[in-house]
Amino acid sequence: IQESNPLRTINDEIFVYVTKKQKEIDELKKLELFRREFLADVSHEFKTPIFAAQGFIHTLLDGAMEDENVRERFLLKAAKNLDSLDILVKDLLVLSQMETGDIKMNFLPMDIRLLTSNVYGRLENIAADRNIALKIKPDNMPEVWVKADPDRMEQVMLNLIENAIKYGNENGKVIVHFNEGKKYIEVAIRDNGPGISPEHLNRIFERFYRVDKSRSKEIGGTGLGLAIVKHILNAHGTKIAVMSKPEKGTTFSFKLEKASVESTDADDQEIIL
Ligand code: ADP
Repeated sequence: IQESNPLRTINDEIFVYVTKKQKEIDELKKLELFRREFLADVSHEFKTPIFAAQGFIHTLLDGAMEDENVRERFLLKAAKNLDSLDILVKDLLVLSQMETGDIKMNFLPMDIRLLTSNVYGRLENIAADRNIALKIKPDNMPEVWVKADPDRMEQVMLNLIENAIKYGNENGKVIVHFNEGKKYIEVAIRDNGPGISPEHLNRIFERFYRVDKSRSKEIGGTGLGLAIVKHILNAHGTKIAVMSKPEKGTTFSFKLEKASVESTDADDQEIIL
């Protein structure tokens, strides 16, 4: 029988304690680094539209106001930059609420095909500007019922479809596919644009990550869209997948739980004569 050595037991306990504390310190350091990087990113993103708007307004105040054409053009540019700032603040707020879990999700049965048609309606002007056809497939599924938070799902579809239109090829097409499984509906948003090369593919979900910085800014994105999409889908217990072939196009897809539609409001209604 081996006698237990009290000194050795104490040593082991100290070792476990120190390792635990070291892990906590490492976690805190990581968090602090994340916080600092985040602040640096945010300040940088804020500066661009603020400087631009300031520039236009000061030039106007310094005399450019006299020329009616310049006045209108510069005011429009200042307004556009302030609009970008507004979108950025709103996106940041959603992202931080998603990250801290402050957004309450409201899972309901909803028709995601109808939602897609509505989102297409909201984006038809920018699609028409680039002559992009918007399609939903297959034709034999007039309704597609899933269990999801309708407002958040609208944000997901809006971000993914808007990206497909913005980054897709002119005269191209965007297709939303629904694929019915036993328990799940797979939603795929497909474009036939230039695609995303492999080295960028797993980074596009990071906040403020853009493949082509200058082009994305010109197009008008905040760089937060896909980070928001990823968080919303995580909160639905699902993941976003992306497949892309250079020059062929990009497909973003995710699965949602099917909702049973056995009892709709209409079925429950009593007919009162
Ligand atoms: P942004 O506001 O810049 O659009 P996102 O987070 O929505 O930010 O997207 C991140 C980057 O991923 C974009 O800047 C763009 O470079 C790339 N991207 C997103 N969707 C597509 C797509 N369908 N085709 C090609 N590139 C895309």
